[in-house]
Amino acid sequence: MSESGMEGLLQRWRSLEHELGEAGVTMVAISKYAPDDAVAVLIDAGHRCFGESRPQLLRDRALRWPQCQWHMIGPLQKNKAKYVARHAAMWHSCDSVATAAAVAAHLDGRTLPVLIQVNISGNPDQHGISVDELPAFAAQITAIEGLQLCGLMAMAPHFGDVRPAFQAMRSLRDKMFDGSVGQLSMGMSGDFREAVEEGATMVRLGSVLFGELDIRNNRND
Ligand SMILES: *Cc1c(COP(=O)(O)O)cnc(C)c1O
Repeated sequence: MSESGMEGLLQRWRSLEHELGEAGVTMVAISKYAPDDAVAVLIDAGHRCFGESRPQLLRDRALRWPQCQWHMIGPLQKNKAKYVARHAAMWHSCDSVATAAAVAAHLDGRTLPVLIQVNISGNPDQHGISVDELPAFAAQITAIEGLQLCGLMAMAPHFGDVRPAFQAMRSLRDKMFDGSVGQLSMGMSGDFREAVEEGATMVRLGSVLFGELDIRNNRND
């Protein structure tokens, strides 16, 4: 990473940290396309909360930087469940009871905070549990020993106004968690300000933080 690239990254991080800190919202730095040296720059600056969508990369980085929290945000297959069980600080993208049971089987006495991913757009191409299925699904996750259900996660619809979706997520969270303690992971680079205004407790920021160029250079999936 060039000097100017690093300086730009640090500037974006400082300004986002400031803005989100004022709002009391946690920034999960989505490093899935970021090179190791960009991750190292943020860690040196004091950032500790990262998100990965590929379980092996999450494991590799969690082993390399154990001082950080590594959040799993992507789709998960059962055969990769052990990486999440052993190395993730939080699992945002839980939407299968079978996969959740596979994760729990590898926890070795650890407790893993879990968010249920809700398909709030109703688009069949997007991941997550439908709003109708959510109560029954949540009860099943709660019954799995070692998993601690602590909130909801969603991605906004690809088209149209994002606010109704974010508002719906907030009211689902309020219903499930008595409006008090539940986490609400919503908002990405293109819509995090709306998400914060609508009550997100965590935003997941990739390109707005790491920059478009780094993303293109490191995309390998
Ligand atoms: C990649 C990804 C993000 C970050 O996306 P940006 O638009 O680059 O901020 C957030 N959430 C999930 C689930 C992702 O896969």
